Amino acid sequence: MAISEQDKLYGDFIVDFVNAETTDQAGLAYLDNVPNVFDFPSKAVKKAREQFKKTKNHINSLSGHEKKIFEVMLTEHEHFCRVCELMEIQFPSLSYGGLDIETNTIIFETICYDNKPIEELTDEDEPCYEFDISESSKDYMEEVNQLLTDYIVYPEAGDSQRLSEICENIEQECKAGRKIEQLKKSISEGKYREIRKLKDDHYQVLREHKSIEAIQFDLREMLQEIITTRSLANNEIVQKFLDQYKVISAENTYLTISKGGIIIEKTLFKQDFFNERAYGDFRNFQKYYEFPIIHAFVKFFKNPDNLKYLKQCEHCPKYFIAKRLTETRKFCSRSCKNKFYNAKRTPKEILEAVQASRKNKKDKVKTQTLNQRLTHMVSQGWAKEEALEILREEAGL
Ligand SMILES: [Zn+2]
Repeated sequence: MAISEQDKLYGDFIVDFVNAETTDQAGLAYLDNVPNVFDFPSKAVKKAREQFKKTKNHINSLSGHEKKIFEVMLTEHEHFCRVCELMEIQFPSLSYGGLDIETNTIIFETICYDNKPIEELTDEDEPCYEFDISESSKDYMEEVNQLLTDYIVYPEAGDSQRLSEICENIEQECKAGRKIEQLKKSISEGKYREIRKLKDDHYQVLREHKSIEAIQFDLREMLQEIITTRSLANNEIVQKFLDQYKVISAENTYLTISKGGIIIEKTLFKQDFFNERAYGDFRNFQKYYEFPIIHAFVKFFKNPDNLKYLKQCEHCPKYFIAKRLTETRKFCSRSCKNKFYNAKRTPKEILEAVQASRKNKKDKVKTQTLNQRLTHMVSQGWAKEEALEILREEAGL
């Protein structure tokens, strides 16, 4: 039995993404497969391919000192993002505005959930909290801690740990900020802005690659468990994907009646989805990669037979989708096959295997030419038996 062509495409889409050794390769493998999987013209996602940036950062135009500023800015930004992430979980009515290097302050803004119209809101309804973080102001972290504690809505067990993680990251962010303040004194304002812009772009690229990495990680865990248990049952990530699929199908699929009168599910993933990339909001990168992959995952495993076509290389951790159930292939590539057998052979055996393979090839060529000549002779009027005898004699067989 053979796997359906479309299901093979869904399967390859997933395993190519998982098998990729770097996030650069994974991103490109993803875009390579999209036109086939979603039945677009081959150049449909050309724009997305052009916009896809590899992790190698683009700061080669900077001097050593400028690169240093770039690195510290990146560190500062990472701590800022971590604070925002942590706050989002626990402080629905408070948002972190981050560090303002020029005024040496950090700011928290409140989000008002009252039903008052915006024009009637006063500062009392939406107070802002500003803290002086200059080195002379020693106890600003205590004040920050107090503010956060006051804003906890539903106290729970992990609060104090989360609070200290938030404070720790704010402190690191401020430390980096002060360092930038020092370092920027020796460069022009224009150069400073240029580095900041480079940092913002690069940060987006990093976010995208982090999303790819996270999805690869989930998929690897999931496939490993599926391969080991040969089942989708009790698999946490499968369950997570299915929950996520509810969101995806609400946004991207619809039901229709096929020509044969059967209800089928169609996807709305259009070329635009892939070409209008998510710059500006890093959270969308997760969606950009995860939605189509989960969609393919559901399509692939909806047919329980397809599980049998999913295989793992016997030499490396890579996966592949067999075309037929009778397929005896055990390796993802010829190189893995050789490495696998060579590991079990002595050097002498390796040499013999290479020689045998060469001889095999030569014999194949010989047989092919013999067959061709036989066909030719028969077409010239020779009886098959007679022609064979002549050719055997010639070959000394
Ligand atoms: Zn392999």
